[in-house]
Amino acid sequence: MRILMIAPPGAGKGTQGALIAAHFGMPHISTGELLRDHVARQTALGQAVRKHLDRGELVPDQIVLDMLREAMVAAKAAGGGFVLDGIPRNMQQARAAYEMGRELDMTADVALHLQADDGELVRRLLARAALEHRSDDTADIIAQRLALYYEVTSPIVSWYRDRGILVSVDAMRSAQEVGREILAALEAMRPLLDHVPAQARLSIDLTGLGEAFGATGSPVGTSD
Ligand code: AMP
Repeated sequence: MRILMIAPPGAGKGTQGALIAAHFGMPHISTGELLRDHVARQTALGQAVRKHLDRGELVPDQIVLDMLREAMVAAKAAGGGFVLDGIPRNMQQARAAYEMGRELDMTADVALHLQADDGELVRRLLARAALEHRSDDTADIIAQRLALYYEVTSPIVSWYRDRGILVSVDAMRSAQEVGREILAALEAMRPLLDHVPAQARLSIDLTGLGEAFGATGSPVGTSD
C-alpha cells in the first residue's frame, strides 16, 4: 500500500505512521525525523535547516523533495509500499510528490487525514516537550506550527478528497483506538486498490465512527 498522512502537529502521525509501516512491513518515511537526524549529526544540510526547525517554519521545498525522491526510489526497490509522514506539507509539495509518484509508478493509494482539536494538540505537544525536549515543542513555536498547518497544509486535504483517496480519521481518542480504526480501514481497502481505478473511488470519512460505537477512551500522548 502507498499511504501519505496529513495531520496537524500533535495528531499522532509519527505514532500511527510507525504502526502502519510495521503492520504492512513497509518503510515509514518521516521528513521531520530525517531532518532532525541531519541536525543531530551536524551535517551541512543539518546546519542549513536547523533554524527553520527551531522556528517552526518549513524548510525549502527542494530539500524535502530530494529526500522524498531518494526514499521513494528505495521504497520501490523494497517492494513499492510506503507510508509518508510529514510530506507533502503544502500544495507545491503535493503536486511535486504526485508527479514523482507518476514517474515512478507509485502514486499514493490513500491520503490519511488525522483530525484533532487545537486544545488537545497543544496539550499533547507540551506533554511531549517534557519528555523529548524537541526544540520546536515550546508554546510559541507550537502556535506557529499550528498556524502554518492551517495556512498551507490543510488546504491540500480537499485536493486528495477530489482525487477520491482521502480517508479522514478522528484522532481525538487514544493512540490504540485510532490505530485500530486506521488498520481496519486500510485492511478493508487493500483488496480493492488494485481493481478500482483512483478516478472511480470515493473518499471515506470515519470521523463519526468513534461516537457511533461509543468510544470513550481518553486521548493519550503521541509522537509526531
Ligand atoms: P514534523 O516532525 O513532521 O513535525 O516536522 C518537524 C519540522 O521539520 C517542521 O516543523 C519543519 O521545519 C520540518 N519539515 C518536516 N517536513 C517538512 C516538509 N515536508 N516541508 C518543509 N519542512 C518540513
